[in-house]
Amino acid sequence: MKTGVIGLGAMGANMARNLHRAGLLVGVWNRSTRKADAFANETGIKAYPDCASLARASDLLLTCVSRDADLREVVAAASPGLHAGALVVDCSTVRAETAQRIATQLAQDEIDFLDAPVSGGKEGAIAGTLSIMVGGDSEVLNRARPALEAIGQRIVHLGPVGAGQRCKAVNQIMAAGINAAVTEALAFAQAADLPEAALVEVISAGAAGNWFLQHRGLSMLQGHFEPGFKLELHHKDLEIAQAMAKSMDVALPLTQMMLEDYDQLMQAGYGSEDISALFRLKRRT
Ligand code: NAP
Repeated sequence: MKTGVIGLGAMGANMARNLHRAGLLVGVWNRSTRKADAFANETGIKAYPDCASLARASDLLLTCVSRDADLREVVAAASPGLHAGALVVDCSTVRAETAQRIATQLAQDEIDFLDAPVSGGKEGAIAGTLSIMVGGDSEVLNRARPALEAIGQRIVHLGPVGAGQRCKAVNQIMAAGINAAVTEALAFAQAADLPEAALVEVISAGAAGNWFLQHRGLSMLQGHFEPGFKLELHHKDLEIAQAMAKSMDVALPLTQMMLEDYDQLMQAGYGSEDISALFRLKRRT
């Protein structure tokens, strides 16, 4: 299946590299042409001048852009090039309703759609070991499997279009709690004057160990907050989760606290840093 990738950010560029290694990648498009040109120079894969011409060359179009409005924009731009029987797989994190609306629009032209948000961080995207939460028709998922297997290790079908995004909201609520716990505990550790590498090593191997501590623990203790996963994007995800929670009459007090902390950091100019920049608020100044 000839696959095109739209969005060469921290996640999309690495997914595209793995699709290329699997022999599936036909071309890429990125809003900033600089990134697309660098990708083309690196891989020999064509950087298309617009979404529609990439769509024309693709059987499967994989999108990975920042927000709902960005996704709507790239799908609208690609639509004139999509042929009947083509398949759009979106790996961005957006509202379930956005996924459902796009699926309905595309279906009018006999184009299939899956929401397939991912978890596993930039490291998982590089290694091709992402966990992929899929919403959509199971027969359509079977067609997409070779591409999804090139970028992920665990591909799980959760239900109709939108179910992948609802599952991703659960993931993001959990990630928020883990961030709050790890940054608070490491601020305590720093004040307690413990050896940083030894602390991260021993706790990572025990019952409190987790991906975030393992991959971001030392860097945050050393004051490095390179993304990774941009704080402003997690803020966007928590707003999605909070809106869902309100509609279901569920309370998310921890998510609310994190939204307020992230707001404070974004106002201070740290929105493009990794989510571990929450440590800025927790550490002793
Ligand atoms: P990123 O590094 O900031 O990249 C964002 C990508 O979206 C870039 O290619 C950007 O193009 C493109 N984009 C944004 N707005 C656009 C628009 N209006 N039109 C066209 N392209 C647009 O973000 P990322 O970390 O790869 O995240 C991408 C998605 O995956 C987000 O929804 C995020 O929540 C989700 N996600 C991220 C992670 C993670 O650990 N990073 C993990 C799981 C899921 P430019 O290069 O031109 O800016």
